[in-house]
Amino acid sequence: MKKETVVIGAGIIGLACAARLTLSGFRVRLIDPNSPGQGASFGNAGHIATEQIEPLASPDTLKKLWSYLRDPDKPLRIRRPYFFQALPWLLRFAWACRPERYASGVEQLKLLQSAAWIELERLFKLIGSPCLLHQNGNLLLIENAKNQPHAIQHVNFLNKHHVDAQWLCHRMVLKLTPMLNSHITGAIHFPKTGHVSDPYTVCQALHQFLLDKNVGMVRATAQAIRATSEGLYIDCRETRIKAHKVVICAGAWSAKLAASTGIYAPLETERGYHLNLNGYQSGLHLPVASYERKVIISPLHNATRITGGVEFGGLELPEDQSKYGILSKHLKCILPDCDHHTQTRWMGFRPSLPDHLPIIGQHPANPNILFAFGHQHLGLTLSGITATLIDYLHKGALTPINLYPFRPERFGTV
Ligand SMILES: Cc1cc2nc3c(=O)[nH]c(=O)nc-3n(C[C@H](O)[C@H](O)[C@H](O)COP(=O)(O)OP(=O)(O)OC[C@H]3O[C@@H](n4cnc5c(N)ncnc54)[C@H](O)[C@@H]3O)c2cc1C
Repeated sequence: MKKETVVIGAGIIGLACAARLTLSGFRVRLIDPNSPGQGASFGNAGHIATEQIEPLASPDTLKKLWSYLRDPDKPLRIRRPYFFQALPWLLRFAWACRPERYASGVEQLKLLQSAAWIELERLFKLIGSPCLLHQNGNLLLIENAKNQPHAIQHVNFLNKHHVDAQWLCHRMVLKLTPMLNSHITGAIHFPKTGHVSDPYTVCQALHQFLLDKNVGMVRATAQAIRATSEGLYIDCRETRIKAHKVVICAGAWSAKLAASTGIYAPLETERGYHLNLNGYQSGLHLPVASYERKVIISPLHNATRITGGVEFGGLELPEDQSKYGILSKHLKCILPDCDHHTQTRWMGFRPSLPDHLPIIGQHPANPNILFAFGHQHLGLTLSGITATLIDYLHKGALTPINLYPFRPERFGTV
């Protein structure tokens, strides 16, 4: 009997890793207390954001932090009861915003992003669902003319880093997307990015592929990983599972599991919200984000979705209901003709590390324990490349990307 690899967490990262390992001929089992794709991977914007080569931990973010916190539309919010819990993470984040740290973060994220599209496309083809991926580009809208010089500067910066981006004037934006509000002053166009038909449909397609390949799925909550002379044991609330190798992909819930292996991961969740107009087709063929509003509107196969917000409130506090009114207002301002269709509301937990880079790598003392979490705002985008890298590590092969900046032990041990 083949030795078994257990993947903990059936979000987009765990599903993609499980699919990749199965395609390489390994015997895989998935553990999750919920059905696949119910975490952050369920309701994200579905944007394949390969243009985002800058970690959010940047001098620019630090400069604007105060204005974001004071903005009545709350693009960034720290929930009062959670302030002191979030503080250590926020201080580490501020430290990661140093210009030299940010500059190396750009180089490191660029490495992942340069292979992100191709690996995602390959994965979708391998599981037989290439039609879920659309390379229609995306727009970053500028509403206030005073922000244009900064946007144009940003285009130059991105071009210098080989990201395909161009400035579109007001007339060109409305020609491309006539349904947008005519007050838009211009936009950055990213022609090589894309979106998926629906992020949850992607999870379902990966799950179906795994079912067809007879990959076992256990409904259980992993609590700790123990290395013994007989192999690895995953202690779950409900059961105990033996594995030859394990991959930790539990999104925002991964820190405790990493700690059980001696790895310290200062993981926080950046909570985000969506409002879905079910059945509503706006006519948009590409996602449009707003520079000023910090939201993105995505054309899904049977809905129009607006997502936004970064909220520090941990994993337990209830949703902030006022966020939905704010999203609705932004939607109306950008897409004035949008209809009041049946709306569904959702909040999800982005898994974020203070340097805004994911953890992808092997345990320094036990190569049978692998880590893939902390993909912050880019988990869907980076799922294909993450799965490929995990497959390389799992085989004991040299990875095509230097994984040192993403190593699990970079924040220390417990
Ligand atoms: C509003 C919003 C918009 C976003 N938009 C985009 C976008 O457009 N493009 C993009 O690339 N990214 C986007 N993201 C980010 C993206 O959604 C996440 O980075 C990604 O979903 C993380 O995937 P994951 O598999 O790591 O985590 P999750 O999807 O959260 O999955 C983690 C899984 O682990 C399971 N789990 C938890 N604890 C345990 C345990 N103890 N044992 C077993 N299983 C466990 C959970 O049940 C869950 O199924 C967005 C996020 C939000 C919130």
